[in-house]
Amino acid sequence: MTSKLVARKSDINGRGCFVTAPLPARKKIGELLSERITNREAERRVAKGGKVRICGLDNRWSIDASRGGDATAYINHSCAPNCFSRTTRGHLLFFALRDIAPGEEITLDYTPSQHPGRPCTCGAPNCRGVMK
Ligand SMILES: [Zn+2]
Repeated sequence: MTSKLVARKSDINGRGCFVTAPLPARKKIGELLSERITNREAERRVAKGGKVRICGLDNRWSIDASRGGDATAYINHSCAPNCFSRTTRGHLLFFALRDIAPGEEITLDYTPSQHPGRPCTCGAPNCRGVMK
């Protein structure tokens, strides 16, 4: 069973992904289901600029989460994340890094991100200030 995820306004950036029920550490949060594209296409879209929600899967494939998907597409970056991702056989899965309380925003350390050098607004005490 997975906790319910909702996308709503985030203090970090735009919309974020929030849980409605407590989530114990190591528990699966969900899977990023969206358009699968080649890394070459991902580079092309990143180069075009604008809002980019692309996650690298492996040395061949990426997922562009701006093309549909559920609330996991809105997981924001934090320098003090509460979730981590794993890639298994072409699937990008998110797991709780620690116990997460209802109403908490799910965050992931994007490093390495598709937009290094951009200012980071995560607000964590240990925030690096810029995206890596
Ligand atoms: Zn930060």
